[in-house]
Amino acid sequence: MSCPGGCGVQISLSLNPDRRPRWSVETDFWGRPTMSPSIHQHRACSCHFWVKKGLIEWCR
Ligand SMILES: [Zn+2]
Repeated sequence: MSCPGGCGVQISLSLNPDRRPRWSVETDFWGRPTMSPSIHQHRACSCHFWVKKGLIEWCR
């Protein structure tokens, strides 16, 4: 996925349990992903957000 913060940086999330940090993705009945924990971009625009039910939810 590319960063929703507007900087366009490509975000690679590790789902590999042997690597940290890693994220878990749960998909609901409609196939909408919810990811945890939140995603914090330390580079680029340093945005911080959650993906809940396929939607971006900003942390402030
Ligand atoms: Zn960004």
